[in-house]
Formats: sequence, structure tokens, C-alpha cells
Amino acid sequence: MSPLYLGKQFRRLVQFAALVRPSPKIHETLRDQVHAFIGPTNRLGIGNRKTATLATYRPVGATCPDSCPYLGKGCLAQKGNVGIHQRASSAEVAPALATAAVGILYAMVTGNPWRELVSGDAGKTWEDAREYHEGLVLMLSIAKEQPNAPRWFGWRYTHLPRTPEGLAMVGRLKSLGLFTRWSDYNGPGGALVKPHDDQTIKALKAQGMKPFRCLEQSTEYENCMTCRACWERPSHTIIFKANANQYTKPNKERPWTIYDLAPTEEQRE
Ligand code: SF4
Repeated sequence: MSPLYLGKQFRRLVQFAALVRPSPKIHETLRDQVHAFIGPTNRLGIGNRKTATLATYRPVGATCPDSCPYLGKGCLAQKGNVGIHQRASSAEVAPALATAAVGILYAMVTGNPWRELVSGDAGKTWEDAREYHEGLVLMLSIAKEQPNAPRWFGWRYTHLPRTPEGLAMVGRLKSLGLFTRWSDYNGPGGALVKPHDDQTIKALKAQGMKPFRCLEQSTEYENCMTCRACWERPSHTIIFKANANQYTKPNKERPWTIYDLAPTEEQRE
């Protein structure tokens, strides 16, 4: 997809987004508009108990660095509902950018950042990810200029290496409102899979880290939209428990009425 075409079409979509209001089916409205103006999207999810926002998918493996230690060895995105969505998504860049366009527009309409790439990654290498990242930079730059632009459009995690090129791109995307956490990195902006017990947390602090237990995993009612630590606490390392199943169930005890975006049963995954 040429940058000229993407930029022109995305500007039209931004004008449309300025006119619509949040509704239970806003993600479907935006997806249909993006389909008409840019092209087909990958799978989109909404109603996940953990994130409580729009989530996007790419296929696992084809878009992930080969160095990821979980690929084929316990990757959560290869299981359950996420596994179904990622297998039904395309590894091509054009649908990934169309899907990201829905996420950016969703953030503009609702004020809630979208969870970019619950499955898959930006590419096998930074070079492989370049076209996708350049498209993201283009769309985020346009969105950022708008009067209704939120501070944050989205957040994500990557297993790509912390190279100078990668750090520069992550910084650029952050300045435009897309926060990236480094998976399996024990440092600021990192995310680790470890137990939540006090001994583990104490040991991490002794190494000079600032560990933060994922709130959704350590409390009964929190989710990403109430917590926001993953993108608003850049100096912390988020600690996730190894527990796959709780991510896939809608939160029946605390439905989405607090966001005025309560999904229907079909929209719940
Ligand atoms: S730490 Fe907070 S924002 Fe990050 S995944 Fe957990 S609940 Fe979501």
C-alpha cells in the first residue's frame, strides 16, 4: 500500500471519526469505514475481560521474531479464542495497517487506547517491520494533529530486539501515542512473566528494578482501562503471572457500562 494512498484515505477516515459518537457497535462502524476507504482488516476483538478495549490480531509465527522463546512452546496467542483469531488473520502488511487504522480511530472516538497486536508482532526483524511501522507513523502523525486526539492511541508488547534502530522506532511511536513494552525485558519499559509473590518482587527490586504486578491479575475488578500502567508507567517493569485462561473470559461481574460501551453477547469473545 503506497504511503500516498494510505495518508489520503486515512485523512478522510479521521474526518469521519470526528463526527461519530461512542456506541456499543462503534468498532463495527469504524471497521466497515476502514474496509471501504483502505481495505480489508484482520480480526478485531472487543469485550475481553483483561483489556476492556479494542484488540487487534496478526498471525503468530509469520509476523514474530524467530528468537521468541514462546513460539510453539507455550505462546498464549496460539491457544483459545486468540488462537482462532490469529489463525484467521493475514500476515500481509496492508490488512495489518487497515486494522491499526481501526484501532487509532477507536481511540479518537472513545478516548480509550487500543491493544495493538494481542497476537503476532510487528515483524520478524526491524527491517521486516519497517513498512508496517512507517504506515503506523504516518497514520498516528495525522491523528495526532486532530483536535480530538487523545494522549494515547494504543499500547503493545514486542519480542523484537532492543537495537538502536528498534529503540529509535519505539521512541518515535511513543511520541505519537503508541506505547511499546519490551517482552521478557527486566528493566524500564519491560514486561516479565513471573510469580506475583512478595519474594519474587523483592528480588527484582534488589536488582534495581521497579516491578509492577499486573493489576488485572492481582485484583478482582481492575482491567487495562482502569489500570493503564502498561503505558502510563514507563519506568516500571510489568510482572505477569503465567495464566492463560483468565484473559479469555468476559467480566460478567463488572460489565462495560462504566465506559458506556457495553458490548452485546455476540461481540463478547
Ligand atoms: S498492568 Fe495494568 S495495563 Fe498492564 S496488562 Fe495489567 S491491567 Fe493491563
